[in-house]
Amino acid sequence: MNKARWLTKLEEQFPAERFRRNEPMSQHTSFQIGGKADVLIMPTSKQEIIHIIRFCNKHNIPLTVIGKGSNLLVMDAGIEGIVMKIGSCMKALQFSDEYVYAEAGISLNCLAKKIQEMSLVGFEFASGIPGTLGGALTMNAGAYGGEMKNILSECTTVSLEGKINTIDHPDMKMGYRSSRIQATGEIIVEAVLKLQRGDREEIKNITNDYWKRRLTKQPYDLPSAGSVFKRPEGFFAGKLIEDCGLKGCTVGRAKVSELHAGFIVNMGGATASDVLTLMEMIKNKVREKYEVELESELRVIGRS
Ligand SMILES: Cc1cc2nc3c(=O)[nH]c(=O)nc-3n(C[C@H](O)[C@H](O)[C@H](O)COP(=O)(O)OP(=O)(O)OC[C@H]3O[C@@H](n4cnc5c(N)ncnc54)[C@H](O)[C@@H]3O)c2cc1C
Repeated sequence: MNKARWLTKLEEQFPAERFRRNEPMSQHTSFQIGGKADVLIMPTSKQEIIHIIRFCNKHNIPLTVIGKGSNLLVMDAGIEGIVMKIGSCMKALQFSDEYVYAEAGISLNCLAKKIQEMSLVGFEFASGIPGTLGGALTMNAGAYGGEMKNILSECTTVSLEGKINTIDHPDMKMGYRSSRIQATGEIIVEAVLKLQRGDREEIKNITNDYWKRRLTKQPYDLPSAGSVFKRPEGFFAGKLIEDCGLKGCTVGRAKVSELHAGFIVNMGGATASDVLTLMEMIKNKVREKYEVELESELRVIGRS
């Protein structure tokens, strides 16, 4: 089936607000960078996810999964095939004692607020991370000594063959900013977190403190995708970059943040190519000066 036909066939099956053709990915990434996706679909259930996967397999269409796009650099030439966005259309949430049952598209910030209302402790670290639960589990997101690994009980995924799996915590193979999902490409649809009972006021104070620290130390006023590089063993990427004199260094409209050298910010109109060139410059300088190899934390996706 040619592209025009599969597009039309699939379009008939989704309401217009959840099926977008030629969708600019700059509207779905915190960096506000990225060319157009052929199609972007926002599923509402596992059944729809399975349907999309089977459709892609049958017609040989490339499939890309995203959450809130807060750890992504999308190439300027856009994304071929279908982008499946697991976001606000999948955000159901339930509590049972210390267990939290949530769909993968819920935002960490919203989840943190609800968890705080239930006086459950252990999720404070995640409240300022601007992603979804699915993205945070895929990346094993963490901050201030906490990480998703410490609170995950199990998660439910759909495999690339369209099969539903329940994955226990150890089988998620969560390490520093990594998980099995990065290798298998499975799609997380929901997860169970295990927290502890705590004092609501104390949880609120810790969360507020983390927020204050973020707002003073990180460039929340400009579009970015968070820390660009992983923490190399024994070092801090931001400190190495700053010590190379690269704070404020610019390529096109992409700039090494003046506030936190571990971040690259979009000063308005930056391209993926600007960011990649700047990343390469940073890696070269840090390698030359410190013999440290920086590894990207950002996930770079799309047509090269
Ligand atoms: C200002 C700022 C601050 C940040 N601070 C932190 C921080 O303190 N700590 C930290 O760890 N990160 C931080 N980040 C990075 C980012 O927010 C996290 O990595 C976040 O967990 C990504 O979630 P997301 O939903 O945006 O995922 P996306 O960026 O959309 O995707 C990231 C990866 O997850 C995959 N993915 C997303 N959803 C699913 C799903 N449902 N099933 C399977 N795969 C999926 C994607 O394919 C991709 O490979 C920050 C980013 C910004 C912009």
